[in-house]
Amino acid sequence: MPLKESEAIILRSYPLGEGDRLVSFLSRSTGRLRGVARGARRPKSRFGSTLEPLSHIRIWFYERETRDLVRINQCELIRSFLATQRDYAAGLGLAVISEVTEAVLPEHEPSDAAFRLLLVTAGAIERSGQIALPLAYFNLWTVRLGGWLPPLDHCASCGIEFGVEGVFASPMRPGLLCNNCRHPGMRVISPRGMTLARRILTEKLERLAEEDWPSAPVNELNAYSLDLIEHQIERKLTTRRLLEKNLESNT
Ligand SMILES: [Zn+2]
Repeated sequence: MPLKESEAIILRSYPLGEGDRLVSFLSRSTGRLRGVARGARRPKSRFGSTLEPLSHIRIWFYERETRDLVRINQCELIRSFLATQRDYAAGLGLAVISEVTEAVLPEHEPSDAAFRLLLVTAGAIERSGQIALPLAYFNLWTVRLGGWLPPLDHCASCGIEFGVEGVFASPMRPGLLCNNCRHPGMRVISPRGMTLARRILTEKLERLAEEDWPSAPVNELNAYSLDLIEHQIERKLTTRRLLEKNLESNT
């Protein structure tokens, strides 16, 4: 049973037994894993605040061939988001990205892109205190990395190139449709929403965050990507309702 070492981001942790924690984390080298941190809830635990959600840490753990859970031996804090969690909206934003990551990534499959996306998004939320744009960036990229994003430049039905009009989407149908081909009940993505989507896929979040984006296109992309994510994982995200309430109250 060799001791493994990796960079990692904590996704969630739950109390286990009398003084332990069950920890879900994304290891940079091994992918998403779950493990047990013995004694983590005892006073003066050697884990300190390393197991808080979104903590960026260095972790040492033992993988056991016959069990799902790894044994967490030691953690060292690289970057904490504990102070950011204290703000309600920022904490909600961090909860959304950890829930989505946990839901979409299979265990034991390393994804450096997903790892970097988490850090970039959490960093942007921490810096700005804003969540709508960082989450639109995170959610759209999650859909892209999952391979679920249809082409953004033409109608999936008639093939016409999208111009300056809005386009129509539904998680139940693959592809985006033009105004002529759309079906009743589809979600509209406005021209500004489409512009933002294209820019998210080609520009850095830091750069986009320097601009003042109206909330409508940002919220459209959040709704569209979360629809696709929920369709893929075949369930509702528990943080989504809280997020939408929060985004509505800020428009
Ligand atoms: Zn069409």
